[in-house]
Amino acid sequence: MKKVYIETYGCQMNVYDTEIIKTILVKEGYEFTDVPEKADALFLNTCSVRENAHQKVRQRINVLKQLKRNNKKLIMGVVGCMAQNLRNELLDDKVGVDIVAGPDSYRKLPDMIRHVEKTGEKDFALTLSEYETYSDIFPTHEKGINAWVAVMRGCDNFCTFCVVPYTRGRERSRDPQNVRGEVEKLALQGFKQVTLLGQNVNSYKYESYDFAALMELVSKIQGIERIRFTSPHPKDFPDRLLSAIAENPKICKHIHLPLQAGNNRILDLMNRTYTKEEFLSLVNKIRRKIPDIVLTTDIIVGFPGETEEEFQDTLDLIQKVEFDSAFMFKYSERKNTIASKKFPDDVSDEYKTSRITRLVDLQRSISNKKNNAHIGQVFDVLIEGPAKKRNQLSGRNDGNKIVVFNNSGNFKTGDMVKVKIEEASTNTLIGTIVGY
Ligand code: SAM
Ligand code: SF4
Repeated sequence: MKKVYIETYGCQMNVYDTEIIKTILVKEGYEFTDVPEKADALFLNTCSVRENAHQKVRQRINVLKQLKRNNKKLIMGVVGCMAQNLRNELLDDKVGVDIVAGPDSYRKLPDMIRHVEKTGEKDFALTLSEYETYSDIFPTHEKGINAWVAVMRGCDNFCTFCVVPYTRGRERSRDPQNVRGEVEKLALQGFKQVTLLGQNVNSYKYESYDFAALMELVSKIQGIERIRFTSPHPKDFPDRLLSAIAENPKICKHIHLPLQAGNNRILDLMNRTYTKEEFLSLVNKIRRKIPDIVLTTDIIVGFPGETEEEFQDTLDLIQKVEFDSAFMFKYSERKNTIASKKFPDDVSDEYKTSRITRLVDLQRSISNKKNNAHIGQVFDVLIEGPAKKRNQLSGRNDGNKIVVFNNSGNFKTGDMVKVKIEEASTNTLIGTIVGY
């Protein structure tokens, strides 16, 4: 049996796509290995969202291609967003890659491998589809308590900094009955939590189903105790969706709400379609409807032309909103994007570094304060596995915060326990089991 090795970079959608690729190749008789030296074909499932993601993959290709010295027939493939974005670079003979396949071409992989085996020629497949959702393919999930489930693919928002609309194509949603079928199977396999995925997951639309209706459908499936979703866009939060999150006990009270910047000129140049006032009023509305909601975000510093004063507006908004945590990035110019064509990347790396350092410091102090406010509270914690220290377990509360506690019973992964919080740091809550 031929063996395949795959490494995954980037977002959860890539993790899910790797699971789809596994199902496609296993059906054709391939077996997966964790040891690259044992493989007949090596794949890297790649990300393009920032330049450092590209750099990591370039380095990895250079390391892995050494294996071709001992195994002349070894096939190396690059799939995913970088494949879609950098086809010419990757297909250059010097690089040593045999297969280049974009995110909508995974069904072609078995034929592509056969083609390379037979002819020794390179092969590529990079057509983006308006329909492909891999809906009929049940992904080969890693064991655990959470399974990722892509419910829509692609993105039509064209934020000017972002490469995703070019690498993943147009937005398309999956048939809700297929999503239900997949989640039912997951529940039978013992998964307790599903995270619904999409680049704009709350723009989900399939016939009469919107995202709220999809979540309600999934919440009826027996065995699934928690439903999470990522990433939504601030533009698509109808009251119906907020009511579903507020009222349905299975839908977790955590919203990842990417802000990107806190200055209106920059938000406009980014094409985010909201102002800081509109964002703030959405946050206030969410907090009125769901008082215990956990809010997290993404921020980019050093977008082209961002001045110190404009960056101060971001710090100011971060202080006003008080997100529970944030992913913070330095702007990275991406090929093909509107920003790369219209706005020179003119904020120096020195300023980007200074801004991200100050932002991280501010967010740390806010996260710390927010986590400390949980001391004394009792949370339902779904156990994910052992913690670093002996006899300690780690899990998450409804708001997606990591909770660590002594295993003062015989509890195991997948159990739900009540934990009273006694200590807190920027990233972790520490407590004691007080019930189950
Ligand atoms: N669709 C999701 C959204 O809108 O939040 C996720 C998109 S992207 C994979 C995740 C985050 O990467 C974005 O929210 C943004 O903060 C960041 N990002 C995207 N393009 C970037 C760029 N060119 N430079 C730096 N960060 C970027
Ligand atoms: Fe990129 Fe914007 Fe689409 Fe998110 S919403 S994937 S940031 S274009």
